[in-house]
Amino acid sequence: AAKESGRNCYHCFTPSMQESVVQRMQLIHDLHIALEAQQFLLYFQPIVCLKTGKIQKAEALIRWNHPLHGVVLPCEFIPLAEETRLITGIGEWLFNEGCRSLKKLQQAFGSDFELSINVSPVQFLDSKSGLLPWLEKLTGQGLNASSIVIEITEGLLMTSSEESLSTLLHFRDAGIQVALDDFGTGYSSLAYIQQYDIDYLKIDREFVRQIPESTDSRVLCESIIVMAHRLGIKVIAEGIETKAQERVLTEMGCDYAQGYLYSKPVTLNEFIK
Ligand code: C2E
Ligand code: MG
Ligand code: MG
Ligand code: MG
Repeated sequence: AAKESGRNCYHCFTPSMQESVVQRMQLIHDLHIALEAQQFLLYFQPIVCLKTGKIQKAEALIRWNHPLHGVVLPCEFIPLAEETRLITGIGEWLFNEGCRSLKKLQQAFGSDFELSINVSPVQFLDSKSGLLPWLEKLTGQGLNASSIVIEITEGLLMTSSEESLSTLLHFRDAGIQVALDDFGTGYSSLAYIQQYDIDYLKIDREFVRQIPESTDSRVLCESIIVMAHRLGIKVIAEGIETKAQERVLTEMGCDYAQGYLYSKPVTLNEFIK
């Protein structure tokens, strides 16, 4: 189910949840009350500028603090939330919480600090009840729209309806930046990148993982970086875990890096500390 949602979550399947229909039903039931019971949390992972070594951005990553299972990772519940359309309400919470957090992050790190928020393609289907009203609220909140980056996947650009794409263009018109997440894992079309005026390209962890050993991965990463730069797009490498990966990607001219080498996702307070 994680893969079906177009996100690469293969690292965290819980076999029991896969096997049992009953447990799945239970989880959907729990998910229905999670929002009101305030069981969702945002974690933050730094995104580091490879030229300066400074933290200039963060990605907001959702967690579900389940009363019985403890902290549940997004790949366990985002697909369910998408199927049941509960993602609309979760998405709204996410943006509000994201903006609240961004204000604090900007107080701590400066007003040019940017926050990335993941947006599911399903949220774009239901834009009138979710994304667009939120966008109106945001513009009244005194936050600079350009300090928010929405992360979308290639699936949105490929398969979505006219309506989804026009919602995306609304975001762009409002000044919100767009990052193409997990780049290289889907059916990447370079035409879409140009058409939708993407600001950031995030090279999927899968390619970074095999650096520096795999020549193919190195060639792929370097080509992505060169191509993106020619189109005026900045590149973020995901899943940097070693100094060697950092060095190779820096040499290739990659702009930003995110990964366990710098920090795992942490709470807002830990992040600021
Ligand atoms: P993503 O957007 O590609 O986020 C990056 C994922 O990679 C995060 O997993 C992060 O913890 C993990 N990661 C970062 N650095 C490393 C590293 O060095 N090594 C390894 N092995 N992993 C690393 P997480 O938080 O479990 O999120 C998984 C996916 O769930 C995200 O992938 C995103 O697609 C989705 N997701 C997370 N939060 C949200 C959300 O608020 N809304 C929606 N719609 N989807 C979300
Ligand atoms: Mg992301
Ligand atoms: Mg990603
Ligand atoms: Mg990824």
